[in-house]
Amino acid sequence: MFDTNNPEIKFALNAVRQASQLIQMVQIETAADALTKGDKSPVTVADFASQALVSYLLMGEFPDAILVGEEASDALKEDGAEHLLEKVTAYAARFIPEAKPASVCEWIDRGAADSAKRFWTLDPIDGTKGFIRGDQYAVALALVENGDVQIGVLGCPNLTNAVTFEPGGAGSLIIAVRGEGTWLTSIADFEKNDWNRIQVSPRAKGVEARLMRSYESGHTDVSKIDEFASALGSQAEPVRMDSQAKYSVLAAGAGEIILRLLSPQALDYREKIWDQAAGSLVLEEAGGRISDLDGKPLNFSSGRMLVDNRGVLATNGLLHEAALKALKEVGA
Ligand code: AMP
Ligand code: MG
Repeated sequence: MFDTNNPEIKFALNAVRQASQLIQMVQIETAADALTKGDKSPVTVADFASQALVSYLLMGEFPDAILVGEEASDALKEDGAEHLLEKVTAYAARFIPEAKPASVCEWIDRGAADSAKRFWTLDPIDGTKGFIRGDQYAVALALVENGDVQIGVLGCPNLTNAVTFEPGGAGSLIIAVRGEGTWLTSIADFEKNDWNRIQVSPRAKGVEARLMRSYESGHTDVSKIDEFASALGSQAEPVRMDSQAKYSVLAAGAGEIILRLLSPQALDYREKIWDQAAGSLVLEEAGGRISDLDGKPLNFSSGRMLVDNRGVLATNGLLHEAALKALKEVGA
């Protein structure tokens, strides 16, 4: 079991739990039509407020810590964005009573750092498009030291027991600590401190493999995924899911393979570190394996992006070599 009294672990759990609750408030309180209209503001409100909150909490606990976060406040300072900044500040103020527009921008921009020997990385909402649809999204926070992820925390408000799609349910809070396994509790019952260890599935045959992929077709190569599934012998239709919630599902044994193939429209796309850091440790500590499409380990010491890696292959471990072979066969 991980050390629930370790200050960095306590901070990470508390920050992701609070950010998840803030985002849930935005989702509940913002009319459904506004969320699906293509009006990006409610989404932006949640993204920005989540990063401001986590950054504020980090500063309070560890004033010298380095944060590599996805968002920046520039868009909030543009002419015409005053209303948006007001909304972000109002949501932040529910958790931080002294929040003011200027301080909220400062907190967000503390995430502009580059990676370092030891740093935190945050995706305040991973899978923003899933959040807009009312599907899956995750708050992802990780501590990286010398290029290795040491702590990874995922908050998945629309996922129950790490695997079940249930918007408005108890949500899942998942933590992995290097060498200590991957553990699950619900966001709603976080105070009970009741943790259950999760483990990847024991399926070892290609024919049994359940594949997961991005919901967004523009983030992957759908026809190549089909070729890959045939090469591996997998019969099941790949499951589409947004965000690092996919890693939670794999870590809990309800899937075997996550593929992030390069979209033919963006062959030079490189992963952002906050899109992979927390999820990678959640999977590895549950017994799984993660690499890029060439089998190379993910290199988290190369700045804000995984410049040395191409795409991602994540598996329950048992199917990793077979999956790499199938990727080669189809030229992915
Ligand atoms: P997913 O839900 O697995 O598609 O992951 C969502 C993440 O994909 C977002 O947070 C983006 O950072 C990232 N993303 C954006 N564009 C691309 C792209 N062309 N290929 C792969 N990932 C992307
Ligand atoms: Mg993301």
